[in-house]
Amino acid sequence: MKTTISHLPQEKQDELNRIVTVPEETPMDKNPQTLLKNVFGYDEFRPLQQEIIDRTLAGKDSFVLMPTGGGKSMCFQIPALCFDGITIVVSPLISLMKDQVQALQSHGIKAAFFNSSISPQEENDVITQATKGEIKLLYLSPEKLISVRNTWLQDLDIKLVAIDEAHCVSMWGHDFRPEYTQLKVFRNSLPKVPFLALTATADKSARKDIEAQLGLKDSKLFISSFDRENLSIEVRGQVAKKKKLQEIEQFIERKKNESGIIYCLSRKNTEEVADYLKEDGHSVAFYHAGMNTEDRERVQTEFINDDTKIIVATIAFGMGIDKSNVRWVIHYNLPKNLEGYYQEIGRAGRDGLPSETVLYYNMRDFVLYSQFADDGANSTMQKDKLSRMLQFAEAKSCRRKILLSYFGEHLTQDCGNCDVCHNPPKAFDGTLLAQKALSGIARMQEKEGITMLINVLRGSNNAEVNAGGYLQLKTYGVGKDVSFYDWRDYIIQLANQGLIEIMYSEGSALKISPIGRKVLKGEQSIKMTLPIIAKEKNSRKPKVMKVVNQGKVNADLFTELKKLRYSIARKVNVPAYIIFNDKSLKAMASELPVTADQFLAISGVGMNKMKQYGGKFMDVISKFKTVA
Ligand code: ADP
Ligand code: ZN
Repeated sequence: MKTTISHLPQEKQDELNRIVTVPEETPMDKNPQTLLKNVFGYDEFRPLQQEIIDRTLAGKDSFVLMPTGGGKSMCFQIPALCFDGITIVVSPLISLMKDQVQALQSHGIKAAFFNSSISPQEENDVITQATKGEIKLLYLSPEKLISVRNTWLQDLDIKLVAIDEAHCVSMWGHDFRPEYTQLKVFRNSLPKVPFLALTATADKSARKDIEAQLGLKDSKLFISSFDRENLSIEVRGQVAKKKKLQEIEQFIERKKNESGIIYCLSRKNTEEVADYLKEDGHSVAFYHAGMNTEDRERVQTEFINDDTKIIVATIAFGMGIDKSNVRWVIHYNLPKNLEGYYQEIGRAGRDGLPSETVLYYNMRDFVLYSQFADDGANSTMQKDKLSRMLQFAEAKSCRRKILLSYFGEHLTQDCGNCDVCHNPPKAFDGTLLAQKALSGIARMQEKEGITMLINVLRGSNNAEVNAGGYLQLKTYGVGKDVSFYDWRDYIIQLANQGLIEIMYSEGSALKISPIGRKVLKGEQSIKMTLPIIAKEKNSRKPKVMKVVNQGKVNADLFTELKKLRYSIARKVNVPAYIIFNDKSLKAMASELPVTADQFLAISGVGMNKMKQYGGKFMDVISKFKTVA
């Protein structure tokens, strides 16, 4: 209700509005669209959300495949609010449960979780509340669900069951959890209740398996676009360790005070990289499976609360976090497969704001993983997936096109937000360059590696070249006009095109393949592309398409609002982004809302948050407005 007193000056009127127009408690309107706005503060459903919600409300099963950050949770949270009874959410990720429950509570929804992290007393409280019908959404780990299935859970009025991370039920997937296989019994015990299976990763064979394992009935498959347009994609190959660290440090330098994750292959690497960055004064911590639970939880919490800005982690990190303002993700090594890679970069920019991702790789990572795969289960499949990963990294065409086509989605246009689109490779006839390199390899009896070859081609007079007796070679110095780094790029291109092989088992000696011999003899020509210049890449601003149009964000106000958010988060002991995410704060810093109606119009502001925090945030904004 709005009270207007006409003779008041505008700022007084605004102040009054802030106090008296706080929306009053009304019986919850159970229309999904209204709930989306009133509870969560969003204006529109994302593609498929509405259809999934409608189908669920009609009591039918669905299978939801959406990328990380795609908005899966809304698909069961809104029906949960529409139904009279309780909704059960099964999730294997204990920390994510707490996060989601806190987020729901911040919207004024009665939610709780039940897993191994809570005390017997807390367990009892949850059971009592659930039995009394006071909880709308109850999150359980699969172990707990199995163990309480035949006790108090039986007495609840269960109206909907959501199985999150549903790929865990399939042995085809990469996170198989044995406890998940028992969910079918639970499903069969509730024949009339709709089940929702949700996941961000499942190829065709896994999908079928998941449906069967969970006992879904006539379920409909919903696949949303996997395109995350706000993520820029960049790949840098064959960068030596020292240079890689320098580049990362420069990258972070440009992203002061923004959160990011660096993924490494080994535990040792995470510690090394973290130490390197710490020495340069960055707010950074490492995280890997070798640490004890307590340390891991502490590191994770500090990251979530913005107390630590950068995490250097093995892939064990991130599964259980829902931090929406991760602004960048760097892969220090080649990931094992495109599924994992896409999921990991997907942890950036969940709030939809532009975010950057960079992948570093070299052939050594590839060889190392191939060896791991040889020893593991499903060896052939794993190696195929690894090869696809490498192909992606080495590609010279739009990366997003390649990535999405792997997930069965076909873009008709290049994305304009990846390194290849920014810097399309320029092809030229590389036959002569190739012949120089190939002849060098032949004259050194296929015994030497890349560095020696380049030194010989460039006519360096160093001790090794001398000791090898290569000063007299006919090819000595024939490639003086090409820089060391460009040669490196060209030689890798020769390897990628199958002209030479890098023998990792023989100290990385270069060998000429049959095609290479043809080119050397002039029987075949080849195309090469100009190396991409790193300097150009650094200076480029990422071009972002279709990101929500935001007015000019006032940086000072944004900082002020962040401070306020941080202090509230501290007080109520939740992660800052649970109060409001960056996107909402940015919208406030550009729209400058000072009345309740204006504030409610900000994306992410529902009734409850308006009531809880609206006044405080609007005070900061109106002060800012008077000064400005
Ligand atoms: P997922 O579970 O698929 O990884 P989430 O459900 O956590 O993704 O959603 C990611 C973010 O998108 C959350 O911050 C959520 O509040 C937001 N979101 C979901 N649906 C909408 C919508 N219709 N409009 C705006 N934001 C949304
Ligand atoms: Zn592209």
